[in-house]
Amino acid sequence: MNKPAELKLETVPAWIGGKRISSAARSGEVFNPATGQVTKKVVFADAGMIDAAVKAASAAFPEWRDTPPLRRARIMQEFLALLKKNQKQLAEIVTDEHGKVLADAMGSVQRGIEVVEFACGIPHLLKGEYSENVGTQVDTHTLRQPVGVCAGITPFNFPVMVPLWMFPMAIACGNSFILKPSEKVPSASIRMAELFKEAGLPDGVFNVVHGDKAAVDGLLTHPDVHAISFVGSTPIAKYIYETAARGGKRVQALGGAKNHAVVLPDADLEFAADALIGAAYGSAGERCMAISAVVAVGAAGDPLVKLLEKKATAIKVGPGTEKDVEMGPLVTCQHRDKVASYIEQGVKEGAKLVVDARKQNVPKDGFFLGTSLFDHVTPQMEIYKNEIFGPVLVVLRAGTIEEAIALINRNPYANGTAIFTESGGAARRFAAEIQVGMVGINVPIPVPVAFYSFGGWKSSLFGDLHVHGAEAVKFYTRTKAITTRWPHQDTPAPGFHMPTLG
Ligand code: NAD
Repeated sequence: MNKPAELKLETVPAWIGGKRISSAARSGEVFNPATGQVTKKVVFADAGMIDAAVKAASAAFPEWRDTPPLRRARIMQEFLALLKKNQKQLAEIVTDEHGKVLADAMGSVQRGIEVVEFACGIPHLLKGEYSENVGTQVDTHTLRQPVGVCAGITPFNFPVMVPLWMFPMAIACGNSFILKPSEKVPSASIRMAELFKEAGLPDGVFNVVHGDKAAVDGLLTHPDVHAISFVGSTPIAKYIYETAARGGKRVQALGGAKNHAVVLPDADLEFAADALIGAAYGSAGERCMAISAVVAVGAAGDPLVKLLEKKATAIKVGPGTEKDVEMGPLVTCQHRDKVASYIEQGVKEGAKLVVDARKQNVPKDGFFLGTSLFDHVTPQMEIYKNEIFGPVLVVLRAGTIEEAIALINRNPYANGTAIFTESGGAARRFAAEIQVGMVGINVPIPVPVAFYSFGGWKSSLFGDLHVHGAEAVKFYTRTKAITTRWPHQDTPAPGFHMPTLG
């Protein structure tokens, strides 16, 4: 007798204490967006499973904290080597569950691997400070100590890179970690957990749980979780920040974006258009650093829109595994339909639809949507105000660079932005005056390399410290200041007044 198809589905387990946990009361479905088929089931954590993960991480913490940083770094180096060896496999998992084209997935895994390269050198950044004789015969030094059990909650659009922004940094600093990846793309995290164990990481230092709001809330409110890193949409980032901070936890919560690119009339328009096409439609626009709004200044407008029209229409859409395909499907059917609804919305609002996804031939199976381009968009329109997170690019017109800067600075999002110009003075002024966390000058997607930190401003980040680089070391450690006196016969007796140590 044939088994029902659903029983044959692979189950994506949780990973707790170095072991796979495959049974749970609730589960979710994982799709291949290029076929539209359910390919796996993923176990959803309930309160009991979250507690088991926190217990495993808490139990592993003291020994890991006391492991010398160099020994921790050696395990990180082994993990780095295994990630490099398995880069293609990880990228294939990304393409299978997210849909982005394989070359793009390979690039995103590479950017994650670079954070692990940085994490291997963390002992240097864990050094404290020392001042001799801050008072008579008194010395002060500081220590950087790990915060304890940290948790990371990540979005669907970078199943490897965004988790790698977090857990290698936290673990290299001596913390233990629980990752809750997006339930839409759960498998890559489990593969990374296996590789980390193979690298020699003690059980319980890195754990993975899956699920939706219930799993996240379990981590946010658990008294033994000390720090939360979040990357996702702005409403959830705000909720995460408020809930975790209320519980006394350290939080960094990175949110959504509406990234503008300003094109000045003196720019090389062919170069700018090529850069904008990749930045707007790469990964089907599902990047937090995607350019989703172009601000064309003065005479740049008409020729730029013509170039964008030509290039956006020529993009080859199809399964991410196929050679020469430039844009894959969207992550889910619901998301594809939501993005498509913005095309109707923009037309209703009176924007000029220059490239229409609805008229393009894209594969019928799977969650595909072609490219769209709107011109003469105004700041009042919903297609400008909302983060669409799909292959829809809007063009606004501005008379001057001042107008362009003012427009961007009024937007509540402030993740990334770029300017295209041949004028050093204009670029310098833009970089100085723009109220955005990451700025590109003739660089469309200015994601900082691993030894700098990544993060936006305003509604694109709640909290103080950005991810990876030196700011992550600050986030995942606490400083302790120790003041020392070793008394001998000349030491003055302690008094009752406030010590000035002079
Ligand atoms: P999302 O906010 O829907 O989900 C992110 C995570 O939060 C997932 O793990 C999800 O399970 C969980 N979650 C969802 N709803 C929740 C709820 N009500 N309560 C608690 N947890 C909940 O984001 P997404 O759709 O997975 O990812 C796309 C978004 O992420 C976009 O807005 C994008 O801009 C943003 N993003 C931002 C950055 C950045 O660095 N700023 C990077 C990547 C993605």
